[in-house]
Amino acid sequence: MLKIINGEVYDPANNINGEVRDICIEERRVVASVSGGRTIDASGMVIMPGGVDMHCHIAGPKVNIARKMRLEDNRLDPVPRTPLTRSGAGKTVPSTFTTGYRYAAMGYTSAFDAAVPPLAARHAHEEFMDTPVVDKGFFVLMGNNEFIMQQIAAGEREKLRHYVAWLLQAVKGYAVKLVNPGGVELWKSGGNAHGLDDEVTGFGVTPRQIIQSLAEASMELHLPHAVHIHCNNLGVAGNWETTLETMKALEGRNGHLAHIQFHSYGGKPGGLFTSRVPELAEYVNTHPNITVDIGQVMFGDTTSMTGDGPLEYMLHQISGRKWINVDIENEEGCGIVPVEYKDKNHVHTTQWAIGLEWFMLMQDPWRIALSTDHPNGASFIAYPQIIRLLMDREYRREKLKTVNLKAIGKTTLPDHDREYSLFEIAVITRAAPARILGLKNKGHLGIGADADVTIYDKHDDKEQMFACPRYVIKEGAVLVEDGHIRQETFGRTLYVSPRYDPAIEKDIRDFFDKYYTVEFENYPVQLEHYLPRPQEIATVP
Ligand SMILES: [Zn+2]
Repeated sequence: MLKIINGEVYDPANNINGEVRDICIEERRVVASVSGGRTIDASGMVIMPGGVDMHCHIAGPKVNIARKMRLEDNRLDPVPRTPLTRSGAGKTVPSTFTTGYRYAAMGYTSAFDAAVPPLAARHAHEEFMDTPVVDKGFFVLMGNNEFIMQQIAAGEREKLRHYVAWLLQAVKGYAVKLVNPGGVELWKSGGNAHGLDDEVTGFGVTPRQIIQSLAEASMELHLPHAVHIHCNNLGVAGNWETTLETMKALEGRNGHLAHIQFHSYGGKPGGLFTSRVPELAEYVNTHPNITVDIGQVMFGDTTSMTGDGPLEYMLHQISGRKWINVDIENEEGCGIVPVEYKDKNHVHTTQWAIGLEWFMLMQDPWRIALSTDHPNGASFIAYPQIIRLLMDREYRREKLKTVNLKAIGKTTLPDHDREYSLFEIAVITRAAPARILGLKNKGHLGIGADADVTIYDKHDDKEQMFACPRYVIKEGAVLVEDGHIRQETFGRTLYVSPRYDPAIEKDIRDFFDKYYTVEFENYPVQLEHYLPRPQEIATVP
């Protein structure tokens, strides 16, 4: 039992904006009252629910290849063991244990890997088992899946829906993810999709059909999170038109557009980027079916990793840095390239400004989530600095003087005076991502919520405040105190179990017999071996 008294509580989901109130915890949950147990006096401190990172890359083969590929990244940042915690390494692609500890030390208690190919689900679950503290889940790549494209082409809507449900069950995933729909399949023979109506050769479907069909299936299955979309043409000048077309293609269906910063570029392909945030933000502001996370770029060295193989090849050609590309049979692909964002570089400054423009121009903070698309835009450990940029306009103005002035002058960023309040920060880092993900017990501190709580000392320097919480509590256990990890726990894995018609299994089995190197029986993840502490999120069929 635990009671936190005298703290200023920011709990937007329950409309609590800085009121002093007690938080009581019993048996891992927030309760109305407790008697006995430990009391934490949070006088003069700020209390928020634990942070929720709704889009990051922390597990699975792509992340692990990046760890092997970027030994220089490991060498720069060794993490020694302590009597309580394991050793690790990695500046931009930390090892599993270091990932968990660093999220915890920053007050984040949940994190979702945004792109796991179904065939690699076991690997992702194994790494989750080794990632301490945070609750986690992953989104399942489906935008280039051959079985799915065949069903779409044949107009088999029911079969498609049952297969999506079967696949989520089989791999114990949380949501449907699209990455460059159709484009990754075309890339396997050297092509790419450049527009929503390009045909995926050999399948007779288009990116538009893939987006619409999987948005529809996600809604029909009542999945807690809408289809999660990485649009076509990521990182290409002029891609804002594809992004706007994708939003329109949803035709009112719910959809989440990932790392929207990387999809908001004007200009001509091959040329300099300009910002088209005002037009896109206007569309999102007026269309409540759409949510976004930002994918903020921060200056410095990082690692780009994505299921979007052709994008990584493009990055490799531009930068000349080392490159890995992997195709995954019948399903997806991925690529990895180290990147360095430079503050005097025209394109990089424009990318940095575009992310911040999104924060400035989104009127409804409930439909926007803070992300760096870790580690694509920057490591997740940059979140406190981004929070300072949002909360402190003087700091932001000073930063504006240090970047490429020509580039910044072509964006609206210098015109904005907006400063985020603590309440709004609690929305975009906790309450909104939890709501967008459909996590009923996370992102808030009402009765029955998971007792994931972060307590900060107040500080004028918001970066310092958010980088070093005073206490971090996970499911009622005080894990971090005065900046040190005091005990280690292992979070849960969250997944969905939508129902499906078992008759679909015959078709899937036939497909496996013909095209997979894996036997149908060996494909589903065994719960008892791979999810020692699972938590199922019920979905209503
Ligand atoms: Zn991503």
